[in-house]
Amino acid sequence: MFSKTITNSSKFLMMPPSAQNLYFHLGMNADDDGFCEHFTIMRMTESKPDDLKILQAKGFIKIFDDKVLIITQWKENNYIRSDRYTPSKYLKIYKEELKQLSSGQEKADKEKTNKEKPKWLKSREKARKDGDLPFSFDYKIKKSFWGRRCIICGEVMGSNSINKPSIQHNIPFSKGGKHTIDNISVICESCNEKNKGRVLDKTNSDEVKRVWDEIKKKDDGIQSVTRMDTQVRLGKVRLGKVRVRERIEKKSNSPSLLPQKTKKFIIKVKKDLEGISISRNQIEEIKKFVAYWTEPNKSQTKIRWELEKTWDTKRRFASWMRNCEKFGNKNKYKIEML
Ligand SMILES: [Zn+2]
Repeated sequence: MFSKTITNSSKFLMMPPSAQNLYFHLGMNADDDGFCEHFTIMRMTESKPDDLKILQAKGFIKIFDDKVLIITQWKENNYIRSDRYTPSKYLKIYKEELKQLSSGQEKADKEKTNKEKPKWLKSREKARKDGDLPFSFDYKIKKSFWGRRCIICGEVMGSNSINKPSIQHNIPFSKGGKHTIDNISVICESCNEKNKGRVLDKTNSDEVKRVWDEIKKKDDGIQSVTRMDTQVRLGKVRLGKVRVRERIEKKSNSPSLLPQKTKKFIIKVKKDLEGISISRNQIEEIKKFVAYWTEPNKSQTKIRWELEKTWDTKRRFASWMRNCEKFGNKNKYKIEML
């Protein structure tokens, strides 16, 4: 009968109670298409002409003449099964008016959708997608320029709330500029605001490029988070396992702390097992023992030994040897170390 999205809306509830009351009575007496002869109902409910005017002004009804009105958004209020539906006799009489009403509604809907995503935002999103810079570029480059002087106004960027570093495209998107490293300068926010949509005459693209190369070099050793990586992690993109592994392997080729950690562990084992007489067979097992406990984790950041909460080399090695005797010499870890 009545939709809560309408009757609970602030637009509805802010009307005087008498107007709300009239709306409910009109709704109760309307035909299957929302037409209603309001004169009788006005009489019946002792409503004032003002209440009707308010309903019309707020767009809840459309008055055709002094006799008939239609309740707008009637379809939202009512869903009638087709076998129970009786077309209104007024449909034919007010054909033209209804057409105007629905085209007006369409126009409003169109405007609404256009409002949701303005043209400039769409073109910006597209240009960013077309560019070859990762998702994290904005954040990283801005962070690097924090505290430097803006090339345009000369103020220290980040010294107040309106001059934080920001990304400006030398040739703006609206003039065909692209989201590529050659087309990007970092200037303060207030200069950016002043130069919106204009071609920048003073740029620092070379410096941005140099800084970005430096960031990339540093990141290679750790992890460079691209939009793809994030989406893979979130499970949004299902890459083949092979490709994901390739990425991991690529990362692990870069220099890291792993060799140092392995070395540290070997020194520790040597020291802890000092003074114990070791047979030739046991030396082989120590090598396997070390290989096992220095095996890196998936993300290549830690070795297995580090993940243990407690550690006693002698005990660990003793139980290693016990297991050796139990399962025979089938340990698969081999290493050329020690
Ligand atoms: Zn500036």
